[in-house]
Amino acid sequence: MVQPSNDRNYALKHASTIVGIEHFESLRFEPQAPLISTRLSCKLAMIGFIDSLLPWTAATLIPAFVGLFIIVLAGNVLKAKHLAAFSLGIFLWFFVDTIRGAASLDVIDAFSASLVQIGTVGLFVLGLIVFFSFDRNRNVFSPLLANGKYGLAIPLLVAVSVGIHGLGEGAAFGALASQTTSANLLDSFAGPTGGGVNAVVSYVLHKALEPMMIGACYCIYSTEQGKSSAGRLKDLLLLTITFAIPSLVGAASGYYLTYNTTYFYALGTGASIYAAVRLAGPLYDNTQPTSSKESIKMAFLIALGVLVIYFAALFHSG
Ligand SMILES: [Zn+2]
Repeated sequence: MVQPSNDRNYALKHASTIVGIEHFESLRFEPQAPLISTRLSCKLAMIGFIDSLLPWTAATLIPAFVGLFIIVLAGNVLKAKHLAAFSLGIFLWFFVDTIRGAASLDVIDAFSASLVQIGTVGLFVLGLIVFFSFDRNRNVFSPLLANGKYGLAIPLLVAVSVGIHGLGEGAAFGALASQTTSANLLDSFAGPTGGGVNAVVSYVLHKALEPMMIGACYCIYSTEQGKSSAGRLKDLLLLTITFAIPSLVGAASGYYLTYNTTYFYALGTGASIYAAVRLAGPLYDNTQPTSSKESIKMAFLIALGVLVIYFAALFHSG
């Protein structure tokens, strides 16, 4: 097996991603670290299990619901394909951020074909293939034929596909909460130069933006759903919970177990490609010509999507 190189250490050290809350040195994993190990020191943790899990649950569920609600509300005035263009912009940043959490699938090991490299790449491919397999009978590549036919199935699958990376985020948080020497959760979020509030703002903002990919798919593919306000609310709650479950499972188990989150991110990156394809399809309409104005509008919406999640990441830098 190839030993970790200085290049790898440099790359990992300077990767400031939202997904892994990874500017905390103690939470940075190299692919060579074990996938899972137990941790006994949490018995001495300053922050209790419930005291850590409740704020995490709130910081994940509430913004996710608000984000979904906003995009579905926007769907009342914007065309579905405009929501898709904006959400595809979010996806582009999300993908780069998540694959960085996966140490870029161990590319730094070159042609080592180590078990670590095979495992990381394998999980990426597995995540990708599994989602397309689940959805193979729902016109993945004929988006116009998939509109309004499959109930909540498509947005639910999108919720899982973009939610899986939350296992890594939750696990990183659980590890942080159980290992911190601070009695204050906010202080423990701070990096060596402080910035606990900024990290929280960044996390909360990105947790509102990610589910917009799900909300856009809800507006595009589930047009027959939620005719009443109560029905829509129920759908959005179900999508919120589905999206948040991996984050909560990661945080709860990560309090007691140390995971190498690289593998979760590899799986999550592959899985998220399903969401990309579901968002990209509706951008194309072969039934009528596209005006030049429309083309520019779509380009601006994609740029806007990238920039809003970039804005969230700015809080996390420095
Ligand atoms: Zn995330």
